Amino acid sequence: MKPTFIADAMLGRLAKSLRMLGYDVLYRAGIDDNELKRVALREKRVALTRDHEIAETRLPIRVVLVESDHLDEQLKQVVSELALSYADGLFTRCLVCNAPVEDVARSEVEDLVPPYVFETQERFARCSGCGKIYWPATHVERAKEWIERVLGDGVRERPPGPEGGPETQRTPYDDPETPSGRANHDEEDQP
Ligand SMILES: [Zn+2]
Repeated sequence: MKPTFIADAMLGRLAKSLRMLGYDVLYRAGIDDNELKRVALREKRVALTRDHEIAETRLPIRVVLVESDHLDEQLKQVVSELALSYADGLFTRCLVCNAPVEDVARSEVEDLVPPYVFETQERFARCSGCGKIYWPATHVERAKEWIERVLGDGVRERPPGPEGGPETQRTPYDDPETPSGRANHDEEDQP
């Protein structure tokens, strides 16, 4: 079974990156140490922390003490320590709220996305939690390039493009607030 996680207040970007790989990661900026441990214990989540005191807890929870300040190194450490696989989970989870995203009929999103996006995109997905609509765009390619660079092979299992087969397009994933071609607020999250 896939591990699930809870991240401490310092690891928001790591939480988002793991969600991008398809992992269930709870994150709240204001969470305190006791709550983090309590939830990890109750829900059997792996606690991700930069805090030695949490790492030294005597509670029977699994803790990963994240060593680096840098996102690339943090992701590499967690993926390698827990031997996480990710090729099949990429872009299946909402970066904002952590709920799974589901394919949604194009006709259902007409009023929910900008007209240009509706006209130019074929496939859409919707977050089952917050309702955010996602679609593929250059953003996804950039995210994949970053993951590939950080984690090595395993992301591009099929050739890109329309002949890439259903798997490459199964989970359209982009940010409705950032139509392709415009500056992207996720810049800070995905180097
Ligand atoms: Zn969501």
